[in-house]
Formats: sequence, structure tokens, C-alpha cells
Amino acid sequence: MPMDYGEQRLKIHENVPLAPLTTLKVGGPARFFARAESEEQIGAAVAFAEERGLALFVLGGGSNVVIADEGFDGLVLQVALRGICVRAEGERIVLTAQAGEEWDDLVRFSVEREWAGIECLSGIPGSVGAVPVQNVGAYGQEVAETIVSVRCFDRRERKFCELSRDECGFGYRTSIFNAEERDRYIIASVTFALARGGAPRIVYEDLRKHFGARRPNLAEVREAVLQIRRAKSMVIDPADPNSRSVGSFFKNPVITAEEFAALSERWGPVPHFDMADGRVKLMAAWLIERAGFPRGYRKGEVGISTNHNLAIINCGRATAREIVALKDEIQRRVAEKFHVWLVPEPVLIGFDKSIV
Ligand SMILES: Cc1cc2nc3c(=O)[nH]c(=O)nc-3n(C[C@H](O)[C@H](O)[C@H](O)COP(=O)(O)OP(=O)(O)OC[C@H]3O[C@@H](n4cnc5c(N)ncnc54)[C@H](O)[C@@H]3O)c2cc1C
Repeated sequence: MPMDYGEQRLKIHENVPLAPLTTLKVGGPARFFARAESEEQIGAAVAFAEERGLALFVLGGGSNVVIADEGFDGLVLQVALRGICVRAEGERIVLTAQAGEEWDDLVRFSVEREWAGIECLSGIPGSVGAVPVQNVGAYGQEVAETIVSVRCFDRRERKFCELSRDECGFGYRTSIFNAEERDRYIIASVTFALARGGAPRIVYEDLRKHFGARRPNLAEVREAVLQIRRAKSMVIDPADPNSRSVGSFFKNPVITAEEFAALSERWGPVPHFDMADGRVKLMAAWLIERAGFPRGYRKGEVGISTNHNLAIINCGRATAREIVALKDEIQRRVAEKFHVWLVPEPVLIGFDKSIV
């Protein structure tokens, strides 16, 4: 039986298995677990953890986390605030979504109303509250382009605050939420500005190929993105074992132009994107494959998706330890061959900090 905590009657559960709450389906239990359905309950959860000197981890849809087999010896808080509020400002639609809304439901909702700005981010699993954390991106779009502000509970100041887009410090798969201010903010809602009747973004090669010279509408772009993602097992589908993953396990590494020149001299043409700041972004999938981990690679209960080199998958009964062992092996072999260190994209919870 859960206990009720404080005036908010926050339900605190004990020893809650976390694996079923994640897409990778590994990991042990949370010592304490609570689901906050209001901002007041977020405050209550923080107070509960502080009173007992417990570590607090905020869980969304569990699609970007690897939980240790030992579980999490603290409070896991799931932010389950729901609701969407929309305001029209001329051609701009200002939309505030609560953190517990499903991200892809929000994309569908916007596309159906012909509001442009997040259509290429169709099919990404997880909650709205998580999208600012790693500045979710795909197919030529990032949430940073449309986020206006993020409302959060500031655990340091013990109060709610509104951070502007600039204050969020967005970059490639990063923000203050997963970097310098990690663990400080609990996101309650996110406000986006979308373009009413705006044109879809078609910059990504796969999308350009898909449509050729034709100018599709937003709904067609969403369908195309979903189709491309399904073919790569990048949409969660219980019937597709390749989607028992966290999506891309590694970020695409960014190196200097000099490092890139040395790499190309040694290995010939290396697929890459030139970045605006002069640096070069490599394709982690290419490095992984060349380092000896082809699609379909398997080691015990873990492996690499048969549809995508970047996805480490749980083939059935994997442990978190096995997932991390494969991650380590990939990092080591890529570093030995290319002198490039791959940084994991998911958050590793309950592990020794030195394993990243
Ligand atoms: C099949 C698949 C495909 C994917 N494709 C993509 C992709 O194309 N692009 C991409 O960028 N990502 C992708 N991902 C990764 C993942 O879906 C995103 O990072 C997503 O935003 C994570 O959301 P979540 O709610 O599941 O967060 P979780 O995995 O639960 O948490 C991720 C991080 O966010 C933090 N967090 C979550 N909610 C809050 C909150 N309310 N306040 C503060 N911190 C919070 C957590 O503490 C944790 O650090 C993919 C994952 C899978 C499984």
C-alpha cells in the first residue's frame, strides 16, 4: 500500500520495479516512487526526498535511460501533469504543454491543425517534459527552434521559475538540464511557438529523397517521418524487438577540422556534416560499423538492431550490466581504431559515475 505524504496527499510507493517503465526494459527497483499530477505535488516530492536525505531522479517515459540492475536507492519522481493550452498571436501559435503529455501526441495535435515547427520530430517516444533536456532532434529539426520557455521547479531556490529559450543553453543533444545544471530543475511545462499554416521543414536527405520535387504538406511529412522511422525501428512497437532500445545509444561525435583531416587521410572518405562553427560532426553509426559492430551483432542477450547501427537492443532477458558492457566495448574499439570517444546519449542511472 502506498503512503500518503503531506497536504498534497502525494502517493509514495516503495520498491517499484523500474524496468517496465523504460523502453530498454532493464534495471532494478526504485526504493521510493511517486507520480506528481500537479505542481504542488512536485514540491511535495522534493520535500519528501529532502526530509529523508534521498537522491531524487525525475523519470519521464523512460525512453532515454539505462537503469542499473541494483535499481535506484532514492526517490524516482514521474511528472504526470497533463494538459495543453493554446493561444493564437497572429500567425504564431503559442502552445503550452504540461510535462506529462506524450510528445508524439503533441506533434500529431499540432500537425492536424497545420501548425508547423515540430513535424519532423514525429514518432519520438517519451514525454513533453523531457524534450528540452537533450534538445530532442531528428530529420533536420530540434525542439530548441520552437521552444519559447520552460517552466520548472528550481530545486536550489525551492520555487517555480520560467526559463527563456536562451537560458536553457541549447546545443546538439544538450541543454543546461543535462549539463551544467543537471538535477537542478524539474520541468513542469514547456511553451512552444509554432507557425500557423507554415511550410514543413524538408532539409534531411531521407525526406528530400522521399518527396523528390513535390512540396508535401505537414501531414505528409509526419507520415513520411513515421514510415522512415519504422523502417529503422525508431518507433516503439511492442511487436518489433529491434525497438527495445533507447534509440541512438551514442551521440554523433563532433571533432575539429584538423582532427577530421587526419582521420580522412588515414581512412579515406568519412561521412560527416560540416558545422557552422567550423567543426565536423561524424556519424557514430559509421564508426561503430567500421569498428566491427555490424547491424544484427549479438552478444548473449544484448545486440545491435538489425535496422540501425546506433541502437543497442535488449534481445530478451538482458541485464543493465550486459548493456553497459557492450557500450564499453563499442567505445573502446571505436577509440582504438579512430581515436574518437563516443559519448552515450541516454542517462545512466544508479551506476558509478565513472562509467560514462
Ligand atoms: C526508439 C527510440 C527512438 C528515439 N529517437 C530519438 C530521436 O530521433 N531524437 C532524439 O533526440 N531522441 C530520441 N530518442 C530518445 C528519447 O526518446 C528522447 O530523449 C525523449 O525526449 C526522452 O523522453 P522520456 O520522457 O522518455 O525521458 P526519460 O527517458 O524518462 O528521461 C530522460 C532524461 O530526461 C530527464 N527528464 C525527463 N522528464 C523530466 C522532467 N519533467 N523534468 C526534468 N527532467 C526530466 C530525466 O531525468 C532524464 O535525465 C529515442 C528513443 C527511442 C527508444
